[in-house]
Amino acid sequence: MTPQPNPEVGAAVKAADRAHVFHSWSAQELLDPLAVAGAEGSYFWDYDGRRYLDFTSGLVYTNIGYQHPKVVAAIQEQAARMTTFAPAFAVEARSEAARLIAERTPGDLDKIFFTNGGADAVEHALRMARLHTGRPKVLSAYRSYHGGTQQAVNVTGDPRRWASDSGTAGVVRFWAPFLYRSRFYAGTEEQECARALEHLETTISFEGPSTIAAIVLETVPGTAGIMPPPAGYLAGVREFCDKYGIVFVLDEVMAGFGRTGRWFAADLYDVVPDLMTFAKGVNSGYVPLGGVAISGEIADTFGKRPYPGGLTYSGHPLACAAAVATIGVMAQEGVVENAAALGASVVGPGLRELAQRHPSVGEVRGTGMFWALELVRSRETREPLVPYNAAGEANAPMAAFAAAAKEAGVWPFVNMNRTHVVPPCNASEAELEEGLAALDAALSVADRYV
Ligand code: PMP
Repeated sequence: MTPQPNPEVGAAVKAADRAHVFHSWSAQELLDPLAVAGAEGSYFWDYDGRRYLDFTSGLVYTNIGYQHPKVVAAIQEQAARMTTFAPAFAVEARSEAARLIAERTPGDLDKIFFTNGGADAVEHALRMARLHTGRPKVLSAYRSYHGGTQQAVNVTGDPRRWASDSGTAGVVRFWAPFLYRSRFYAGTEEQECARALEHLETTISFEGPSTIAAIVLETVPGTAGIMPPPAGYLAGVREFCDKYGIVFVLDEVMAGFGRTGRWFAADLYDVVPDLMTFAKGVNSGYVPLGGVAISGEIADTFGKRPYPGGLTYSGHPLACAAAVATIGVMAQEGVVENAAALGASVVGPGLRELAQRHPSVGEVRGTGMFWALELVRSRETREPLVPYNAAGEANAPMAAFAAAAKEAGVWPFVNMNRTHVVPPCNASEAELEEGLAALDAALSVADRYV
């Protein structure tokens, strides 16, 4: 329902926020958050009555949009019946959510450990891998984001980790493939893939395979730039893991649950990890939930021996009821198919067409409802539109791009020199066209800096 404009309430909400809310990843005094009055489907409204098309899906999690009536009803029903119950009991919403997730995860990832979100899912996956192998090290990619808790920060490659990276012994990073800004300077996807695999195997052999518990990768790295890996890369990593007895962890916190046009991005590459993390889209983020899908072999490690870890709210009934309803909606309403079809017929072609007309677009990458435009000062040199990790004046071109997109009615996802195009997976063709038109206007502003 469209909320009634009410600037006075909006001002009060914002004043209380400024006084008391300490925000993530932000210099508190420099932040100027929009006060949001309501949200529905692919849109949200501010208190002045302005409507925005949400091309961010929140933080890439409202895969079925805001306020889906079936999920809201399921949460209300669960709240009326049994709002909460401790994790050591069998509870209908929890066991049903686990069953529905296990039914969709690839291979024999049939046991589900529930967490409160993505970072703690990564923490537990790495702990399981270390306990299962009895080995200390984890290998992770430089261009990656795995979460804000300490171990998840330490395996993250994204420079946001710098300030809080405690340099935990046992984390070794490597370069996964990324042709546009390759560290290998190879010419083709195939060459980049081959060289990235060669680099990874060399890293494994110099680190000592018998010391490596896990390799953790985002199936499609998201926060670091939405970089679908070349064909064959993940299969190659799978082979190394089998060869050296290493646990393969795929992080599908962002790429999972329909985002790439498949239930899981692993399905796109026909690869089955030993552990797979998820969160966000599992219940469209309506109630915090994440988890680890666990292979039979690793689950067996903890068959007679206790798993030494847990969370008070593991498998919270409200969150699980939201997951059951969300998965139901996704299946009944063809949400995954919608992401695949409109990603291929509308978003991809639309973004490529924008790239032809706007010199600030260096590259278009993505699949499903998971796309990024890499903005550059020069297509020849590929110099990013703003420097790495830019702030303040140095970030002015991206700030101008974002302001122009908002002015045109779309809330964009802006990250360094990129805009990620990540609408809800059930967005309609008309909504996507509306968003592309707004990006067109915003890119004209970015072009001024070329
Ligand atoms: N892994 C990936 C791939 C993510 O994208 C994120 C969040 N953006 C996380 C882990 C962390 O999830 P959360 O913020 O729910 O802890």
